Amino acid sequence: MSVSPAATTPHASKVRRRFLERLRNSGVNDPRVLRAFAEVPRHLLIPEALRDRAYQETPIPIGEGQTISAPGVVATMTMALQLEGHERVLEIGTGSGYQAAILSRLASEVVSIERIPRLAASARSALDRFGVTNVVVFLGDGTRGRPDLAPYDRIVVTAGGPEVPRPLLEQLAPDGMLVGPFGQRRSQKLTRFRRRSDGGFAGDILGECDFVDLIGQNGWQR
Ligand code: SAM
Repeated sequence: MSVSPAATTPHASKVRRRFLERLRNSGVNDPRVLRAFAEVPRHLLIPEALRDRAYQETPIPIGEGQTISAPGVVATMTMALQLEGHERVLEIGTGSGYQAAILSRLASEVVSIERIPRLAASARSALDRFGVTNVVVFLGDGTRGRPDLAPYDRIVVTAGGPEVPRPLLEQLAPDGMLVGPFGQRRSQKLTRFRRRSDGGFAGDILGECDFVDLIGQNGWQR
């Protein structure tokens, strides 16, 4: 993955060192996950005027009324997926492409779906510029998943829906896991579902959160 000159000034290196230290202090203790966060140039996925906030613990607007999630939230979701490297992952909500770029370094293949054409196109070209070859970005309604490419070992939903979309659970491989925010419009519970070997699902709640809306057939109707 190429790193921009902007990331190599002494100030930029210091900012990114502090960023990684903050992630470590917040409990991100998997060296592979920390390496992925060290290597993905988050500032290049953010509008130029807002780049000085790239490594702060805050969501940032990326246009079309959408945001790139705060890095700590991305880290929590990434850790919750318990990736070992061999997994096929489905991401709903490509947005800037940041979560997809992180996942690309921790899994074997990532299928990512975005409903807004401009975001899908710009994430796709950013991933190409970074030299990421194991992520495919599709335009469409992610609440339906991509049954033609299922099953997935992991599914991550990066927008908040009223409840977990049933088609996504059905596209999980046996023992697979889905992580996503579900609940009210401005307050959701970050939840992890596991597909048990008897075909049922077990859920555990990882925390409270506030994501932009998951809009689609099995999400909010705008
Ligand atoms: N993973 C993104 C990142 O790393 O930048 C986070 C993006 S933002 C929090 C959530 C994204 O979900 C938005 O880009 C939004 O357009 C998208 N989204 C909402 N509903 C969707 C749906 N049904 N299918 C696909 N994408 C959806």
